[in-house]
Amino acid sequence: MHKFNDEVSLAINLAKKALDITEYLKTKNFDSYQKTDNTPVTIADLASQIYIISRIKKNFPEDQIIAEESNIQLLTPQTISLIKKSYDSLDIKEIVNLRETLIYRGPNSNRQWTIDPIDGTIGYKKGLVYAIGIGFMENYIPKASVIAVPSIHNQKSIIYKAIDKGGAWRSEDGESFKKINVSNQKKLNQAILCHSLHYDSPLSDKFIEMAQIKNTIAMDSMVKFCKVAEGMYDIYFRPLTTNPKIWDFCPGDLLVREAGGKVTDFYGNNFQYKHDELVIASSGFFASNKDLNTEILKLLEKIL
Ligand SMILES: [Mg+2]
Repeated sequence: MHKFNDEVSLAINLAKKALDITEYLKTKNFDSYQKTDNTPVTIADLASQIYIISRIKKNFPEDQIIAEESNIQLLTPQTISLIKKSYDSLDIKEIVNLRETLIYRGPNSNRQWTIDPIDGTIGYKKGLVYAIGIGFMENYIPKASVIAVPSIHNQKSIIYKAIDKGGAWRSEDGESFKKINVSNQKKLNQAILCHSLHYDSPLSDKFIEMAQIKNTIAMDSMVKFCKVAEGMYDIYFRPLTTNPKIWDFCPGDLLVREAGGKVTDFYGNNFQYKHDELVIASSGFFASNKDLNTEILKLLEKIL
């Protein structure tokens, strides 16, 4: 039995159930709101986060929680009633005060959870890919993570999990897991690269051109980390335009590294986390196998 077995088991169950909540709510009609950082939030983001927080609080009351959503004013009698309906239909009980739970963050602790209740909210509203990401850290060092990806285009929903020094894994039922590994592609110009669909910058185009990469895929959410971790794509390239948030990157960072890959900034540094942010020295990062990491860093030296 692994050291973080309890945390991972809980995170798997929470991510699976949260996915049921977001998929249930997808069929209901509700609005999307703009946050102060211009990114969208929906009632489904809140419903997912409230559920996940309530269960972490119950199982690990001494742990700290770092979660994305705090828009308590969106919890009106009407939206609360819709969220409760989703819980009832999925047999989720014991969540009494939704407003209090949404903003519960636990005591300060060296054990910290990160929650992204829906990563890729723009895509979620459009029926595209999105993910639910849960990370677990000790002193801001990722120790375990779970990413749930819903069924899109009749494919099965998938749960990914990673444990520090325990590998990266993938499951189609959330129970039997198979180990995954990054690709062994060594040639940069033959690599398949994925990049952001909604938050990209001209640097991606410049990099793709300089690297003579022909196969590129634009997609939403932290699923890009999953695709690199399981070797389906070779590179996830990500210039950063705004302050990167910890819940977007902690789960995927650990997943790719545990799958034998590397996740570094443009100078080759590993990620560091502090409070609710990813602390990074350069203007972006990329995830790939180790051979491509070396190649890409060489090329970036010429571009940056
Ligand atoms: Mg989100």
